[in-house]
Amino acid sequence: MDSEDEMNYDEEEEDSQEEDSNDEDFVDIAMEPEPSTASDSRETEDFQYEVLTADKIVHVMVECIKEVNAVVQIPATITRILLNHFRWDKEKLMERYYDGDQDSLFSEAHVVSPYRKDPRQKRSTRGSTSASTSESMCEICCLVIPHTDMAGLECGHKFCFQCWTDYLTSKIINEGMGQTISCAAYGCDILVDDVTVMDLIKDAKVRLKYQHLITNSFVECNRLLRWCPAPDCGHVIKVKHYDVKPVRCTCGHTFCFACGENWHDPVKCIWLKRWIKKCDDDSETSNWIAANTKECPKCHVIIEKDGGCNHMVCKNQNCKADFCWVCLGPWEPHGSSWYNCNKFDEDEAKKARDSQEKSRCQLQRYLFYCNRYMNHMQSLKFENKLYQAVKLKMEEMQQHSMSWIEVQFLKVAVDVLCSCRQTLMYTYVFAFYLSKNNQSIIFEDNQKDLEHATEQLSEYLERDITSELLVDIKQKVQDKYRYCESRRKVLLDHVHEGYERDTWDYQDGL
Ligand SMILES: [Zn+2]
Ligand SMILES: [Zn+2]
Ligand SMILES: [Zn+2]
Ligand SMILES: [Zn+2]
Ligand SMILES: [Zn+2]
Ligand SMILES: [Zn+2]
Repeated sequence: MDSEDEMNYDEEEEDSQEEDSNDEDFVDIAMEPEPSTASDSRETEDFQYEVLTADKIVHVMVECIKEVNAVVQIPATITRILLNHFRWDKEKLMERYYDGDQDSLFSEAHVVSPYRKDPRQKRSTRGSTSASTSESMCEICCLVIPHTDMAGLECGHKFCFQCWTDYLTSKIINEGMGQTISCAAYGCDILVDDVTVMDLIKDAKVRLKYQHLITNSFVECNRLLRWCPAPDCGHVIKVKHYDVKPVRCTCGHTFCFACGENWHDPVKCIWLKRWIKKCDDDSETSNWIAANTKECPKCHVIIEKDGGCNHMVCKNQNCKADFCWVCLGPWEPHGSSWYNCNKFDEDEAKKARDSQEKSRCQLQRYLFYCNRYMNHMQSLKFENKLYQAVKLKMEEMQQHSMSWIEVQFLKVAVDVLCSCRQTLMYTYVFAFYLSKNNQSIIFEDNQKDLEHATEQLSEYLERDITSELLVDIKQKVQDKYRYCESRRKVLLDHVHEGYERDTWDYQDGL
């Protein structure tokens, strides 16, 4: 076999690849990249996982095939199809392999049993061939072709090279199929293995696409693997045990391992999924909410928001009203215990329900939560600007005899601000699906406290910091972000406790 025909995942490593004359072991030699550099092991909240590069994924796949092969001893290419059939669960495959009827296992996975005596026997029952001649007719193009120019699978169906190539190319390029391409013969469900594909396909573009499809289905099928969802990242997270936990890729993106969305504690994956679908369906509404301009509630001048802080001061010199960007109410009472910027008034809504149609009340409720959710999301985007501003401040402080280490608290403060905003954002998704009970009232109080503390930290970092004396800043900022962190922890612990004790009731039909 020519080294160019091998399934290479990295062009530069082509020459260093191990050569092996045994074609049966195609997967082993062809799909195995260079022994990979140490993978990136990580851990968050006692959750162990690795970040894998594209090369390393192939390595993991080959290792998995080898492990099974060491026990079952069938061609590697069949092992790959079997493993894929069991969603790369080795134990499940082994169990079925030794416990049950192997013939039915092979047919279920659409492969010909490697133990079948003379698999080409079947061929002789077909009319188009004669054992005495060295030529036969390709049933696709109807040309009579020497056997040496024909190819087929274990099922015995043979076609000319050109027809195979056209068929496979169309499946790979047009239909995006990799693991699940079946034999070209009508009604035959035997799967085409990777050796056959790579032997027949010469076009580099098609080969590369096929390789991508194979690795992709390996990752997609495997419960312990997930692609990093960041655009153009290409890394894969590999976990020891499947769980709903945050993972951080080497590219810096943190996401939920279970669903791939941004880490969304305290709301559960299923509710978030529902919420995202709802927002997509109502994109007109959410786009309108996400707009960065509103009218001043007092003088009606158009105000544009240019930072994450929600305490607005009207730019109109004759007005200068202080108001809350989210509810457009006066800012001043936002810190008082009686003021509820975060609580949807279900009682008011119930009264309204008697006089208005139900759908309008539901829309009101949705707008309330969507507004707050979108608002924290928007603020989170603005915090990138804040990192820049804080960086300048840190440089300034270093010029005033503070060391690099001493000024790091400012960056930590923005980190805390961002994680609080992210938590708050998802608390509104959680709250949207929540029914009122004693625990939900405690939750809303926790949410209000965290929101209030977060807005204070935000305001402090965005405005006050420039006017304060350098020496006074550190203690104040540290006190504020520590308080925010503690409020965030209280809120999350309370929600998790509720999950454990099953104290949360959910609204139906939203
Ligand atoms: Zn043909
Ligand atoms: Zn066939
Ligand atoms: Zn990534
Ligand atoms: Zn999730
Ligand atoms: Zn105004
Ligand atoms: Zn408000």
